[in-house]
Amino acid sequence: MQNAGIRALKLNWRYLAFDVHPDSLRAAIEGAKALRLIGFNLTVPHKLLALEMVDVAETQARRWGAVNTIVFETRDSQGAWVPLARVGEDVIGEVRSHGFNTDADAIVQSLKEDFRWPDLRGAAVLILGAGGAARSAALRLAQEEAATIYLVNRTRDRARQLAADITEHFPRTSVKEGYPSDPVDLVINATSLGLKADDPLPLHLPWLQSRRPARVYDMIYRPKETALLRAAKAAGCKTANGLGMLLHQGAAALKLWSGEEPPAGVMRAALKREVHD
Ligand code: NDP
Repeated sequence: MQNAGIRALKLNWRYLAFDVHPDSLRAAIEGAKALRLIGFNLTVPHKLLALEMVDVAETQARRWGAVNTIVFETRDSQGAWVPLARVGEDVIGEVRSHGFNTDADAIVQSLKEDFRWPDLRGAAVLILGAGGAARSAALRLAQEEAATIYLVNRTRDRARQLAADITEHFPRTSVKEGYPSDPVDLVINATSLGLKADDPLPLHLPWLQSRRPARVYDMIYRPKETALLRAAKAAGCKTANGLGMLLHQGAAALKLWSGEEPPAGVMRAALKREVHD
C-alpha cells in the first residue's frame, strides 16, 4: 500500500518493515533519526510505548494515548519545524521525532464510508475489547458525540479504566459496561478474536441473533470475512471489515511525511491485492 502510494507520488522512497524488540524501541527511534529517515509507522506492541519516547507528540496522539506514525523534522530557514521531506538534504540540521496518531480518525472515516453513514452523532455503540485499538475507537467515537458506548472486554478492569477515561474527556457520552438490552446502531470488534480460523466469536451469538444490531464492523481485515461478520450477515446486519481503517491510517501517514495528497485509490487497490487476493 505505502510503496504503491510512494510510486504514484513519484517519490524516491521505499517503505520497509523491521521487527524491533520493545526493549530496543528507543534505540530504533534514535537510530532512524540519525539515519535521517523520513519517518515510520509503529504497530503492536509499540504504539503505547512510543508516546513517551518521541521528542514531541501531537495533541491527538496524546489524547488517544498512542503513536502510530513518526515524522522526522528539522528547522526551515524561518526556524519552524518541518518534515525532512520538505527541505533539501544540505539544510538538515537538528532533527526531532514528532509522534502522531492516524488510527483514530481512520476508524471513523472507514465507518462513515463503508456504511454510508455520514453522521455518527447520537449513535449507540457496543465496543468489544479494551486494548489500544478499542481505546482509540471509543474515545474518537465519543468525540463524534456518540450518545452511548457499551464496553465488553475479557479483562474487566481494562474496560473499567477505558470507561473512566471516556467519562473524564467526553462527559456527554454515556458509558456502560456489559451487553446492551437497548438496540445498538453499531458493534465494533476491537479484540484479536477472529484472526485465527479456530478462534471463538468475540461476542455472545444469542445476543447478536436476538438484538440484530444495525451494523457490525470487524477491525480485522485478514481474513476478509471473519466468523463474526458471517454470523452478523446471517442475522441481517450490515457488515464491514477493517480494510478501510488500515487504508486511511496509512494514507494519512503518507500525507504527514510527504505533505502531498495521498493517492487513496492506488493505495486501496494495492492493499486489496496484497491482503485479499
Ligand atoms: P491489543 O493487544 O491492544 O488488544 C487486544 C484486545 O483483544 C484486548 O481487549 C484483549 O482483551 C482482547 N483479546 C485478546 N485475546 C482474547 C481472547 N482470547 N479472548 C477474549 N479477548 C481477547 O491489540 P489492538 O487493540 O492493537 O488490536 C486489536 C484488534 O484490532 C486486532 O485484531 C488488530 O489486528 C485489529 N486492528 C486493526 C487495525 C486496522 O487498521 N484495521 C488497526 C489496529 C488494530 P484483554 O484486555 O482481556 O487482554
